[in-house]
Amino acid sequence: MNAITENQSYSAELARRDLGVVWHPCTQMKDHETLPMIAIRRGSGAWLEDFDGKRYLDAVSSWWVNLFGHSNPRINAALADQLGNLEHVIFAGFTHEPAIRLAEQLVALTPAELTRCFFADNGSAAVEVAIKMSFHYWQNRGMPKKARFLTLQNSYHGETLGALAVGNVELYKTLYKPLLMDVLTAPSPDCYYREAGESWESYSLRQFAHMERLLAHHAWELAAVIVEPLVQCAGGMRMYHPVYLSRLRDACTRYGVHLIADEIAVGFGRTGTMFACEQAGITPDFLCLSKGLTGGYLPLSAVLTTENIYGAFYDEYTKLTAFLHSHSYTGNPLACTAALATLDIFATDHVIERNRTKAAYLGRRARELENHAHVAEVRQCGMILAVEFVKNKARREPYPWAERRGQRIYRNSLQKGVLLRPVGNVVYFMPPYVVDEAEMDLMVQVAADGIELATCD
Ligand code: PMP
Repeated sequence: MNAITENQSYSAELARRDLGVVWHPCTQMKDHETLPMIAIRRGSGAWLEDFDGKRYLDAVSSWWVNLFGHSNPRINAALADQLGNLEHVIFAGFTHEPAIRLAEQLVALTPAELTRCFFADNGSAAVEVAIKMSFHYWQNRGMPKKARFLTLQNSYHGETLGALAVGNVELYKTLYKPLLMDVLTAPSPDCYYREAGESWESYSLRQFAHMERLLAHHAWELAAVIVEPLVQCAGGMRMYHPVYLSRLRDACTRYGVHLIADEIAVGFGRTGTMFACEQAGITPDFLCLSKGLTGGYLPLSAVLTTENIYGAFYDEYTKLTAFLHSHSYTGNPLACTAALATLDIFATDHVIERNRTKAAYLGRRARELENHAHVAEVRQCGMILAVEFVKNKARREPYPWAERRGQRIYRNSLQKGVLLRPVGNVVYFMPPYVVDEAEMDLMVQVAADGIELATCD
């Protein structure tokens, strides 16, 4: 048996063994009766490679986490070095240099008022931390009625119960509603629904009126408003204008309600600036970061907050005001090291500037898809580009979800060596920043083929 045949049989064997024991996330496992499970052997740059030597261009950065390519030599070297020193240590009563340096750098990178960094180990946990901290702040300040949260329609903040409660994507939420706290929901500023000829700014401003009304009526019982700044990613890469965020910041301050910015998906350059909030010139009370934080290497999240909020918890132990929230792997040194190496690449490689050229190229290429008879919109915010396909373009009538047309695109793109994973009827690109023009051409071509195939009947 030659090496290739051996690998092929091993690839098939791994897929079979996987389906015998593993339960995958966000997956109807029955789909895999016809959809091959792909076992990845290695990754390099924007590419993944399976055991047959077949390569896949990772156009979705492996669920939006990878920034500088798979097996990035600089992050690898930093991790190898850290491994020789310390893999993990309890983070209560003990600390370590990677966590301290990372907190210092995050505090320096974010707006001046954000001076405190609390670590957790995934995005949902960061959201849990932010909502618990906000609630607890008001308790500690003697305002116990401020215990509710206000979210946006079509928002997504993770899938643990608190994060799910403050999210609004029906697919993930409906079944679990009996388990979830009750939240207030404002209509989204999502500009897909703007009138013909209306600007993004005008539509987002118009939608803000609903938010202002809800704040005016409910501020007394509200702890915080939570938003995904600029792009509602899991909600179909729906985008809105920064003016909404500046109005929201202003209103939250006026009404005495915290603002939680969930930049778990949009942070670290995805929207064209290091953080999306920069485009509105605002400082949230809580900034949640994860995903790209470690360059896509290891699970880690951080919640940045202000000295005022930190101060509300700082007292004698017996006052019982401390924030007693913990995860075993809080501040894991390997994850912090990967994050430091990632921030180092940002600092030395002019990433944000270079991405501007890449985003412009991707935009130029992808805009060609606007002419397709079933494409309602091609929208872009920095390095996130989305193509919304519809049943009827004139009426913007969506395809029924049960037809699973996005799934056809997914299957087709895998055959062609590109990992595209549409959200409903939205094909999107959120590639690692190491992507080059030829790779962007391939992504767009395969998406175009997929849309044609998925909309031809
Ligand atoms: N918030 C946002 C905006 C996200 O996009 C996600 C993940 N897609 C999360 C929170 C949850 O992060 P995690 O999957 O790491 O729990």
